[in-house]
Amino acid sequence: MKQFTYTKTSEINSAVQEGSANKTAQQGAEIRFIAGGTTMLDLMKLMVETPNKLIDINHLPLDKIETTSGGGVKVGAMVRNSDLAHHPYIKSHYQVLSEALLSGASPQLRNMATTGGNLLQRTRCVYFRDTEFACNKREPGSGCAAIDGDNRMMAVLGTSDKCIASNPSDMNVALMALEATIHITGKDGDREIPISQFYTLPGNSPDVENVLKPGDLITHVSIQPMPPGSNSTYLKLRDRASYEFALASAAVITQVKDGKIAHARVALGAVGTIPWRSPEAESVLVGTAPTAENFRKAADAALKDAKPQTHNKFKIELSKRCLTHALKLVTTA
Ligand SMILES: Cc1cc2nc3c(=O)[nH]c(=O)nc-3n(C[C@H](O)[C@H](O)[C@H](O)COP(=O)(O)OP(=O)(O)OC[C@H]3O[C@@H](n4cnc5c(N)ncnc54)[C@H](O)[C@@H]3O)c2cc1C
Ligand code: SF4
Repeated sequence: MKQFTYTKTSEINSAVQEGSANKTAQQGAEIRFIAGGTTMLDLMKLMVETPNKLIDINHLPLDKIETTSGGGVKVGAMVRNSDLAHHPYIKSHYQVLSEALLSGASPQLRNMATTGGNLLQRTRCVYFRDTEFACNKREPGSGCAAIDGDNRMMAVLGTSDKCIASNPSDMNVALMALEATIHITGKDGDREIPISQFYTLPGNSPDVENVLKPGDLITHVSIQPMPPGSNSTYLKLRDRASYEFALASAAVITQVKDGKIAHARVALGAVGTIPWRSPEAESVLVGTAPTAENFRKAADAALKDAKPQTHNKFKIELSKRCLTHALKLVTTA
């Protein structure tokens, strides 16, 4: 591990000011915030992240889960994944989010991992995490070892000829379906970004993963209430039943009225280079009866642009089955 300096702060403005000395907010940044450290420290030990300075943000006053007057919720960036998953309001009003969080990692990791850190977790692509291999995300312009290598876990949606890495998060798939808003404090003040505009596709610059600027601190995530009478669920398929990243996952929210789907939100995990919302599936579902045939049509629409690599074609069918089963669960609940 490279030597680094370490500071901690309990003030949002000083964290932002210190972080703003960075030239980039992305790969290669010299100054990094550290929250739970469950992504950051691993990558520093692997020499994938080599910051000169860590700013410990664990003492920032951002550890509250608050309900809002309209029935939504505002979650501080330092709220631990366990606390969020087990919070009574989240369990009763946002089942999809609680289930997604509890499907991730292990209890010990969830006790450390934070809402802000989870939003920014990096890919599990083995070549990204091993500095012996070419990786455009880690070292722009070096190539992509995964394209002709072991690409079983890689994405089939949103890929480019520069990077095919999948986004590994569970929580963020649920937040995509819930149309969450990310609240940020930066050197020019506060701003809000809908999660649908937060992540960027790899294109020619896979080292850039989101719209954050140097010094930007995620302070909160806010979520509006789901429509009355709607149900939600998160279904995750993986190689083993626990402590494993997804091969395919689906976050779904539906509201059924008079035998027809009146509202649908669909997001897929592990198949996209970013947590993957599917407006295509949603528009197939709305106005139709909740039948196996319609679920399959929605799944076909969601994966219609999928582009498999040599070892991950199976993910397309797996993702479709995951989505159809999640839709069945949520509409028969
Ligand atoms: C063995 C293992 C298994 C795992 N399995 C799963 C799984 O099944 N599903 C899943 O979804 N995840 C899984 N994870 C990933 C885990 O969820 C993330 O590591 C965790 O959520 C990151 O949160 P953190 O607080 O520890 O982030 P940190 O490691 O502290 O930070 C991560 C990144 O976010 C930045 N950051 C943190 N907070 C802020 C903020 N407020 N504002 C701006 N930048 C910030 C840091 O600078 C860093 O770049 C696993 C991790 C491990 C190690
Ligand atoms: S898929 Fe992306 S992260 Fe993996 S080696 Fe290629 S460029 Fe790197």
